[in-house]
Parts: sequence; C-alpha cells; structure tokens
Amino acid sequence: MTDPTAERIVVDAVPKQLFVDGSWVDAENGASFEVVDPSTGTVLCSVADASPADGIRALRAAAAAQASFAALEPRQRSDMLMTAFRLLHERIDDLALLMTLEMGKPLAESRGEIVYAAEFLRHFAEEAVRVDGGYQVAPAGGTRFLVAKQPVGPCLLITPWNFPMAMGTRKIGPALAAGCTSVIKPAGQTPLSMLALVGILSEAGVPDGVVNVVTTTSSGDVMEPLIRSGLARKLSFTGSTAVGRKLLEQCADKVLRTSMELGGNAPFIVFADADLDAAVEGALAAKMRNSGEACTAANRLYVHGDVIDDFGRRLASRMSELPVGRGVEDGVRVGPLIDEVARDKVQTLVDDALAQGAQVLTGGHPLDGAGYFYPPTVLTGVPDSARMRHEEIFGPVAPLSAFSTEEQVVAAANDTEYGLVGFVYTNDLSRAFRVAEALESGMVGLNQGVVSNPAAPFGGVKSSGLGREGGAAGIEEYLETKYIGITLGTP
Ligand code: NAP
Repeated sequence: MTDPTAERIVVDAVPKQLFVDGSWVDAENGASFEVVDPSTGTVLCSVADASPADGIRALRAAAAAQASFAALEPRQRSDMLMTAFRLLHERIDDLALLMTLEMGKPLAESRGEIVYAAEFLRHFAEEAVRVDGGYQVAPAGGTRFLVAKQPVGPCLLITPWNFPMAMGTRKIGPALAAGCTSVIKPAGQTPLSMLALVGILSEAGVPDGVVNVVTTTSSGDVMEPLIRSGLARKLSFTGSTAVGRKLLEQCADKVLRTSMELGGNAPFIVFADADLDAAVEGALAAKMRNSGEACTAANRLYVHGDVIDDFGRRLASRMSELPVGRGVEDGVRVGPLIDEVARDKVQTLVDDALAQGAQVLTGGHPLDGAGYFYPPTVLTGVPDSARMRHEEIFGPVAPLSAFSTEEQVVAAANDTEYGLVGFVYTNDLSRAFRVAEALESGMVGLNQGVVSNPAAPFGGVKSSGLGREGGAAGIEEYLETKYIGITLGTP
C-alpha cells in the first residue's frame, strides 16, 4: 500500500506541459485538462491541452530534426535506446505507481508493463545496428541491384490508454532505431506515463526535436491537420477499429505509410482433451490481464460440451477469489475500469446476454462505492446472438459457450470481422496445428494465454489491423526500401 504523500510526489514530478523541440512548453492558448484516478474518481492533476497550432509546431520540429537524426551512427541511436531501457528499470517503482494512479491497474501489473515497455527499447537497440540491405546480379546480367533501407521519415504515433507506456515504446523504439523522428499523441486519459517516458528519452540523449509529445482533448482536430500536412510520412496507430478506419481515410490523402493495431474479439477454445488446469489458468491470464481491458483479451470462450461444466466451475472459483480494489493496495489483483462509460458498457453487455438466456456463475453486477469497479464475472450458455459475441467487452467478463466439433468451433471463432489473436487448448498435436492454421488471426496462443512478447511480431488481420509491431518485422514498419540500379562499365 502506498501512502498519499508518495502518490502526490510521483504525480508532481511529471512535467505537465507539451514536449516540443526538446523543451517543455505550455499550450499556445494556455489550456489544460484534468487527469482522473479511475479508482477514486478524483482529479490527479492537469496537463496542457494542445491546439492544432501546437500540433503543427511539434511536427515542424520533428521534420526539422529528421535529416540530422537519420545521419547519426546507428550505434549512437542504439546507445540512446539502451540507456533509456536502463533508466526505466532504475525508476520502475515510481513509474509503476504513476501508471497505476492514472490507469488503475494493480501495481504488480504496472511493473510488468514497465518491464515489457523497456524490453521494446532493448530489442530495438539491438535491431538498430542490424539494418541490412542487399546486392544482386540482375537475372539478365550486366546491371546490379543495390537494395538499401532508409528511415521512412517523420512519424505520427497515436497510443491508447490501456497500456500507457508499452504501446508507446512499441512504436518509439523501432522509430528511433530506424532513424525516424516523431510526434506522439498519448490517450487523453493516461498522458502522464508518456510524459515521464519522453523525459527519460531526452535524458538518455535523444536529440531535441526527435521525439515530441502533444497531449490534447481534441485528438481529431489536432491530428488530422498533421496527417494531411505533407510533413509526416507515416502514421502508427493503436486503438479502436472505428477510429483506425477514420485515420486510414485521412492517410489516403498524402498516401502515408500506416501501421494499425486495432480492436480484437479473441476466441479461447478448450477441447475436451486439454489439460483443464492449464486451460483454466490460461483463461484467467487471457481474460484478466489488465482487468480484461486488452485488445488480446479472451472475448469468447468456447468449451467442449463434455468439459464445460467442470471448466466453468473452476474458472468461476478462480475468478471470484481475485481481490478487487485500488491498484495501489497490497494484494489487489483487479483494479477499476477506466471510466464510468466503460463500466456501464460492460453492464449493458452482461444484461443483454442474460436477457438472451445466459446464466451467471459469478459476478454480474457493478460494485458500489467510489471508482469504476466491476467484479470478475463468468457467464455460461451465452448464445451467438448476444452482443458480447461480436463486440469487445473490454472488462473482466468471461462468456462461455459449449461446442461439439472442431469444424463447428473453428467456424464460430472465425465468424467475426476481427482477427487479432486466438487461443487454443488441446493435447492433440495434429488438432493444435490444424486449428492454429485455420484461425483467421495474426497470432495464436497454443496452450498459452498470453502471446505478447517484444521479440515476436504482434498484429492482426481483417479489421484488427495492418502491419506488425515487435520482432524483426517491427523495425521494417519504419524503413523504406530503396533500390539502386548500377551499370558496371567494362574495364
Ligand atoms: P480509441 O478511442 O480509438 O483511442 C485511441 C487513441 O486514438 C487515443 O489516443 C485517442 O485519443 C485517439 N483518437 C481518438 N479519436 C481520434 C481521432 N479522430 N483522430 C486521432 N486520434 C484519435 O481507443 P481506446 O478506447 O483508447 O483504446 C481501446 C481500443 O484500442 C480497443 O479497441 C483495443 O482493442 C485497441 N487496442 C489495440 C491494440 C493492438 O495492439 N491491436 C492494443 C491496445 C489497444 P483520446 O484519448 O483523446 O480520445
């Protein structure tokens, strides 16, 4: 348990201004907005509320810094990233507390996110010095092909509130490694972690103008002029599919490169031959990480009819044991949802499923008192017509349905516009590979409930997105390929 003084100290220590061209500056009109602790509903502090003019100022700084940053030795960029990696670890206690205060997740999960976020910096520090090209003899001989990789150019990076730091380093790490400058716009609900991160990047030696941060309540008004300005060459966005679609249309204007990490509707499939203990623990991880506020969260649990009663009982028992409370309190495993709208949406989806015949195994009602708490909930007998089969729940609710055949469950799992991740529990090797190949998703967890790993290519298909973050693919999103044709003269 932290004391109020420690909480005040970490909040006070974060600059509350915009970070533009290496300096902390107020919004041009002096505006600011409040950041709220979702576990109490009280205001933590206010941060600068950027206008479109502030956004353009930040992008001009990024564009001006692009050429000199791209000209640095790759080793220098790598060293900056590695220094920032170390600083995140050194300051993990304060950073975790800050994240818990603005976002609500328990301290242990915030620490986990800082480690995960730092790992992207280390991974891309290592990639920065491995960017390669190629040299090839043309099929008809004579000329040669030289293939070089160059930074895309100034980037716009937009991040969501659910992983306030890791969704940032997953973009900033490869952008810096590749030699790209950027303007970052964190979510309005969780700007503090990003402001703390950019301070650390600056301390780690990232030159002025290379990373710029604008916090704002007018995301659309501030970002659209930047997207259409002609100064940016790329947009990387993590957020909802609805906003992603809008941004893709805007990007078409100047034909920007795009990376889109969008919504999910993950199936979690448990076959009758699965290790049920492992499946229950996997479901707990896939559902309860971040209180279900994750794009990878198990949104639809399909359990074979022979084991669904046993699985449901065990999962409900484990879920109901998880202590709910303020994330700063000892032992808490489930924090609040991000706001009242999120909590009301979860209840609406639960009520809709119950009205259509689902039954409650545990939970099912919001908790009274301050903060936006919702208890871990397990529903069974959820029909395909329920809204939560088609929409992201984004809360700690696990809806179970029974299936009987492999063909039936694969068809049900793929019956969605989303395709981010699917989870499969089975001890039959052939079935494991068959189903993993048949799932229409960018990622599959085979007998594991968490797939996120900075060294692996994270991303979705269908309406879950375009491009990959992390792994070897992550840096490619920030590199252009240039082919140089060479004629060799005769000696
Ligand atoms: P969101 O409403 O789409 O917002 C995401 C970010 O976009 C925020 O910074 C938001 O700013 C900004 N934004 C909103 N409207 C905008 C506009 N018109 N122009 C430019 N920027 C705009 O999503 P969210 O509710 O924060 O996050 C949850 C969603 O993110 C879920 O669907 C989840 O699945 C998805 N997600 C996906 C991944 C992945 O890797 N695939 C990872 C995490 C989350 P404001 O805060 O000011 O609105």
